[in-house]
Amino acid sequence: MSDLQHHLCKQDPDVDYSWEEYDARGIYLCRVCTKCVKTKLAMYRRDVLTDSNYHADEPIEEEA
Ligand SMILES: [Zn+2]
Repeated sequence: MSDLQHHLCKQDPDVDYSWEEYDARGIYLCRVCTKCVKTKLAMYRRDVLTDSNYHADEPIEEEA
């Protein structure tokens, strides 16, 4: 467990640039910087980040 998982990029005086990270479907995940990006993105499933069809098994009920 690393503190970087909860890194507050904007409050870290060493960090002058941070950005928002989105998954493959454009859903906001978290704010990251060069310090914590690796740790934070490691918390997510790889397919969430790379495969925009990761949620394609969503049940679609067609009860009219
Ligand atoms: Zn950070």
